[in-house]
Amino acid sequence: MLVSLADLRCVLFLFLHQCCDSRYDPTLVFNADPGEIFTIRNVANVVPPFVKNEDKKAETAHHGTCAAIEYAVKSLKVEAIVVLGHAQCGGCAHALSLFSPPAAATTTTSNEEEEKNNNNSSDDGSGYVDAWCGLIKESVKHVCAEYDKDERLRQLEHENVRRSVENVKTFPFVQERIAKGELKVRGGFFTIFSGGLSMMDEETKAFKRVKDIELSEEKAPPPAADAAAGVAADAAPAGKEEANPADPPQSAGTNKRQKRK
Ligand SMILES: [Zn+2]
Repeated sequence: MLVSLADLRCVLFLFLHQCCDSRYDPTLVFNADPGEIFTIRNVANVVPPFVKNEDKKAETAHHGTCAAIEYAVKSLKVEAIVVLGHAQCGGCAHALSLFSPPAAATTTTSNEEEEKNNNNSSDDGSGYVDAWCGLIKESVKHVCAEYDKDERLRQLEHENVRRSVENVKTFPFVQERIAKGELKVRGGFFTIFSGGLSMMDEETKAFKRVKDIELSEEKAPPPAADAAAGVAADAAPAGKEEANPADPPQSAGTNKRQKRK
């Protein structure tokens, strides 16, 4: 039997990052069933900021992602939005290559510049990725000003989630449901190498490793929205940044399969 969209009380995961290049399955990460999570993917899990009506026809309106957010919040009545970044993000790496200051960017020769200009003059239809990554240009500038080259990619992956969470909150229909206590917006980060999930602390904006998001055998599975929102409450104590690739796998998906045996 098909379930109508109105019956779906989905959690909206803005896998604006599964960035199309993240490899994990959100239903396994968050211990959800098929259909419980409404997912959006785009390059680098970027949430564009809200634009006013008169600007919606502009090229910068980025209708696809914004339309999906509006649909999820207003029609599906999702109870939680999670912007989930991931390690080794190709979108963030590309943004770094595009917008790093000259001193940190790869030095190009005059011949390379000439070749680049020639390529630009013959329009092959590309340029969408570069234009999209322009949405995180300010984040690139920030991490380049604050961190050494080796740290910038991970810091950008985190900063991108922080700014996307803030951008979600710029939409009036999001603000309205937050004010009513009907919607929560959270940031998260997943490292597939270790199966490690981190959630962003709302106060400090730091990412804290979730030690155990498994539900106990005795505890009845809550609605998916509660499970997602509750991840932050299960996070490890402050002060420990996540992402130790040497950590043993501890994905919720593994726990879920064990639970259902
Ligand atoms: Zn990515």
